Amino acid sequence: MPDQLAAEVTALVGDQADHWDRLGLLPHELLRKMSARGLLCAQVATEHGGLGLSSARSGEFTAHVGGLDSSLRSVMTSQGMAAWAIQRLGDAEQRAGLLRGLVQGRLAAVGFSEAAAGSDVAAMDTTVRTEGDEVVVNGTKVWITAAHYADELVVFGRYGEGGAAVVIPRDAPGVAVERVPDPLGCRAAGHSTVSLDEVRTPAHRLLGGAGMPLPMLVTLVLAYGRMSVAWGCVGILRGCLTAAGAHARSRRQFGRPIGEHQLVGRHLAELLVSEQIATRACEHASALWDANAPDAVTATVLAKHVGATQAARGAASALQVLASAGADNSGLVARAYRDAKLMEIIEGSNELCQVMLAEHVLSDS
Ligand SMILES: Cc1cc2nc3c(=O)[nH]c(=O)nc-3n(C[C@H](O)[C@H](O)[C@H](O)COP(=O)(O)OP(=O)(O)OC[C@H]3O[C@@H](n4cnc5c(N)ncnc54)[C@H](O)[C@@H]3O)c2cc1C
Repeated sequence: MPDQLAAEVTALVGDQADHWDRLGLLPHELLRKMSARGLLCAQVATEHGGLGLSSARSGEFTAHVGGLDSSLRSVMTSQGMAAWAIQRLGDAEQRAGLLRGLVQGRLAAVGFSEAAAGSDVAAMDTTVRTEGDEVVVNGTKVWITAAHYADELVVFGRYGEGGAAVVIPRDAPGVAVERVPDPLGCRAAGHSTVSLDEVRTPAHRLLGGAGMPLPMLVTLVLAYGRMSVAWGCVGILRGCLTAAGAHARSRRQFGRPIGEHQLVGRHLAELLVSEQIATRACEHASALWDANAPDAVTATVLAKHVGATQAARGAASALQVLASAGADNSGLVARAYRDAKLMEIIEGSNELCQVMLAEHVLSDS
């Protein structure tokens, strides 16, 4: 991991993660500063003004941020997905304008999900149509991470028989953003409902690939999100491991440190195993991603699934080790417990990941 970037974010976050979690907000100026440094989407190529990190290096950086604050890491995941969508689908002009903006202080969110289209994202009924030199978008997106902070909304919808993605300025007439009032975890990530009522935007904001099958378009962009969430889960596990280990060394019961009671030691051992297998799965997927290997897509689903399930399990073990010391609803382990559960839902729930992995097995046999 680029140590200097990690140190920079550690200093920016300081001891504020709990405070931001309770407040349900991240400081806007912090996000702008990180965007302007390219830190929210560190994989953007240097030719577009980004830091140009490989998936592996960006992943370790993402894990570092995930260990500090999952809300901030969630905002990074959204910004990274938006940047990835523009980098992969956009033309030279869109990359020079919209993508460059995302490493110059602008903030973005990505909207697939709707009330009736969650796991079945292809069931979305947001529409995108071209009228002259404008694109018109109608629909309502739910649970859009970072939308509260965003200047740009990358919105997916139906476009004729296929799908399309449009980059909509948050301040365009017809856009309304309303925060989810009381999320379980990642509470400062700015999740919002985004309503789009006859929103008109210049046609040059329609990304390439318009008309492609919707599932294909969505999967292309979600792959980035999955990789980012997977590494974020590694960060959650590392934070839990450190906190549980420290507590097990310092807390004494029955005349000795609780870590020396074998059943507590088992929790620590299992946490270490969780952290290691999640890390290995992420390293493997990132290596394939960096090699542009076709297997990267399945390896990314696997990494996300392993990361999320291990993080949820590991955070529960860490909380068990801390017991009442972790039962106050603040502090790293309590946050991790709430945040990790959500990782099993987003970017392809556990079940959807299992469905995709099973399809992979079936297609091979
Ligand atoms: C914290 C958070 C952040 C989010 N951020 C974003 C974002 O930035 N952008 C965005 O577009 N969306 C976002 N979402 C929405 C997220 O993508 C959806 O919540 C997710 O896709 C699951 O959809 P759902 O909640 O409607 O659950 P449902 O689809 O209703 O699923 C309910 C349950 O049924 C299971 N299930 C459904 N279908 C199947 C099946 N075929 N086989 C087996 N099991 C199945 C699911 O796994 C789940 O357990 C976010 C959600 C949360 C909670």
